[in-house]
Amino acid sequence: MERLHQYVNSKADEYIEWLIETCNQPSVSAQNRGMSEMKDLVKFFLRKINAEIEEIETDGYPIIYGEINSGKPKTLTFYNHYDVQPEDPLHEWTSDPFKTDIREGQIFARGVADNKGNLISRICAVHAYQQVYKELPVNLKFIFEGEEEVGSPHLKYFATNFPEKLQTDGIIWEGGARGAIDKRPHVSLGVKGICYVELICKGANYDLHSSEAAVIENPAWRLIWALNTIKNEQEEILIKGFYDDVTPLTQKDKQFIQTMDFNEQETKDMYGINSFVKNVSGYELKERLTAAPTCTICGIDSGYTAEGSKTVLPSIAMVKLDFRLVPNQTPERTVQLLRQHLDSNGFEDIEIKQSHGLTPFNTDTEHPFINVVLKSVDNVYKEPPVILRNLAGSSPMSKLLNETSIPAVQIGVANTHSNYHAPNENIFIDDYIQGIKVTANVINNLG
Ligand SMILES: [Zn+2]
Repeated sequence: MERLHQYVNSKADEYIEWLIETCNQPSVSAQNRGMSEMKDLVKFFLRKINAEIEEIETDGYPIIYGEINSGKPKTLTFYNHYDVQPEDPLHEWTSDPFKTDIREGQIFARGVADNKGNLISRICAVHAYQQVYKELPVNLKFIFEGEEEVGSPHLKYFATNFPEKLQTDGIIWEGGARGAIDKRPHVSLGVKGICYVELICKGANYDLHSSEAAVIENPAWRLIWALNTIKNEQEEILIKGFYDDVTPLTQKDKQFIQTMDFNEQETKDMYGINSFVKNVSGYELKERLTAAPTCTICGIDSGYTAEGSKTVLPSIAMVKLDFRLVPNQTPERTVQLLRQHLDSNGFEDIEIKQSHGLTPFNTDTEHPFINVVLKSVDNVYKEPPVILRNLAGSSPMSKLLNETSIPAVQIGVANTHSNYHAPNENIFIDDYIQGIKVTANVINNLG
């Protein structure tokens, strides 16, 4: 691959130009700004590598599907998105978010990290491979959607209606980054799921004078009593059956968790805390972060909370809860168990409103595709990778892959200080060029 690496170095300026061109085109899905122009630009770049292109129409923005059939036994797929987040607050940007600026080895633009840098770097990798070796060792597929930043409402539609287009030996997913300080590449294998609910507890028809509390029940107390049955001070979630579906960790899972970097002192200093929950540290902390489901009170509201005092008996109390879910748990089952739990503890009157949910997705850590990617990372970076069994956060991976056993691995050109969704979004030029090489190595190693 030395020849290919040299070719990428020699083409660096041109490949950066391709990225600048895509970043200068706004494509804000939330505001329907520049989406059609961006779609055409993505197709323009896919034509540079002779991909056969199909536009999959949806009620929203189309999914651009590309294919290069080389007649080889293995197929590699790239999932990326061509939409970006809105750029405001504009005054916090040092340069124009849609006029790419390069300063001290960094490229600044809205979408450069999330996720145009990755999208274009995949195309550059294929381009470089074709120029240097003429023949591709694998078939390639590209699934580029335009709705990731608004929750990917049509990914499931794609998975259900085009199973043959989804068929592949492995997906390189968007995301992935490099440690901004230690420079170690991050390879991640999945995401946690999420189940977001509101619990609503109602009392009298309207707020009352608090003297009536002697005889009228207070929904705020009642909600607190219900919450007390959901989680204890040992951080255990007490909903019956909640942990039953959780898949136990394998040796390989634990080995990958071990590779994570987590600077405990720096985090404590930054957050101004003295300890982590249950005083965990070392391996145990990393395991909790990636493999433990959570139940979090995100907000709680009842009665009078403004300045001074108001002696009132509230008529309603509400709490917003999120559950981060791990492999084999689902948002639907979580809501069902929560309902049963509240009912069996005498809280039948408390209403559950589910606002959104995502199933977790994890690539089997034993899957051989992971080694193909890890070997490719080794071929390019000197530093050993951090292997994240899954991110502590959630993403729509499951919408595309849930009904399949397709392995998905995240590698990318951003870094942990890339300011995703925020002002001054950026990547390092060096990470972009290295990322092109890693993708080319994945093509080679899978072949
Ligand atoms: Zn994003």
